[in-house]
Amino acid sequence: MAVVAHWFCGLCEVEGRDAVKEPSCWNCGGAVTVTARPSLEWTDSALPDE
Ligand SMILES: [Zn+2]
Repeated sequence: MAVVAHWFCGLCEVEGRDAVKEPSCWNCGGAVTVTARPSLEWTDSALPDE
């Protein structure tokens, strides 16, 4: 399984996923805000049923 971090760049208003602990923006190359901690096989669709 891949460990990926989900991130968002406020400058470019883009988001992405990278398999690194400290990802950088693919557009501007700057620092990004990690919006989700690195997790195993990130899934966008599966929401927990509480
Ligand atoms: Zn950026």
